[in-house]
Amino acid sequence: MIYMLKEKNSAGGGKFSFFNFLKEKESNQAELINVKESILYLKNKIINEKYEITREEAIFLSQIPNNDMKTLGILFDAADQIREAFCGKYFNLCTIINAKSGKCSENCKYCAQSVHFKTGADIYGLISKELALYEAKKNENEGAHRFSLVTSGRGLNGNEKELDKLVEIYQYIGKHINKLELCASHGICTKEALQKLADAGVLTYHHNLESSRRFYPNVCTSHTYDDRINTIKNAKAVGLDVCSGGIFGLGETIEDRIDMALDLRELEIRSVPINVLTPIPGTPFENNEEVNPFEILKTISIYRFILPKSFLRYCGGRIKLGKHAKTGLRCGINSALTGNFLTTTGTTIETDKKMIKELGYEI
Ligand code: SF4
Repeated sequence: MIYMLKEKNSAGGGKFSFFNFLKEKESNQAELINVKESILYLKNKIINEKYEITREEAIFLSQIPNNDMKTLGILFDAADQIREAFCGKYFNLCTIINAKSGKCSENCKYCAQSVHFKTGADIYGLISKELALYEAKKNENEGAHRFSLVTSGRGLNGNEKELDKLVEIYQYIGKHINKLELCASHGICTKEALQKLADAGVLTYHHNLESSRRFYPNVCTSHTYDDRINTIKNAKAVGLDVCSGGIFGLGETIEDRIDMALDLRELEIRSVPINVLTPIPGTPFENNEEVNPFEILKTISIYRFILPKSFLRYCGGRIKLGKHAKTGLRCGINSALTGNFLTTTGTTIETDKKMIKELGYEI
């Protein structure tokens, strides 16, 4: 069991720096407040009053030790109840195809496709519209809700030829699919390029923040956190939905993850991919220490407290949670990237659907 410590201020009176909702009690030294009471209080305030939790409150939740199963269980249940209250039982499945691979000018330190690192990743140019359609139809028939083309590279700015080809591919797919929604992930983009994608039938633009503003310079130096924010704002400005999240295990702190979630809340992001780093030999992050699975689950729960209405989407590296992956589906997650991910092996749509239905979700 952990507790929140109430410090005495110099004037002798007790004052919480946060959680001022908790009734102060008389104490000579400091006061111990049961964290369970705090979790449940916050959960009820979010569900009943649409309360937005503060950074301090999120950090307080993050201080639950990774081996305190009893308290973590209370946190997970509370996150699950928030998910149910705001999102119901619906579970969303998306799929992607690596539509252009390798030779990227950028230096994102986790990525197999950067030209700066020797990783042995596949190198090929933009795939044909026929192959893109084949993959889209296959995923649609297997039950996916969304399908995205993902291309390596800094972005589409100054690359009109690639943009035109992508527009042709999206229009071609659009003519042959039924309910499948089209998403796109092509890096840094102007409003004009994004407008063309929207006109071609794309509904959602994917562009991760990856980490916090503070930590981002440790991840990539060839473009900035603000470049990413600007692309997200450009996509929203032309009416696209935005899917944006990040990767856990880059060397960031849990506070960094919380800061990223708070930025996503400010940007009103409704779909948040949560990746766990799969260290790729040859990249600067190849020897990164693994994040404790319970810390990942704790972070997912805190994300649900911060982003009650969003799709929290299990993505690359979730396989690293092993037998605990199911717990994630009951502590805030309500969507997933399924099938094979870019350069790391994922899972199959069939396996995911079975597991998700067993847990009571509707697909
Ligand atoms: S911009 Fe995309 S493809 Fe290029 S290195 Fe970064 S993550 Fe990899």
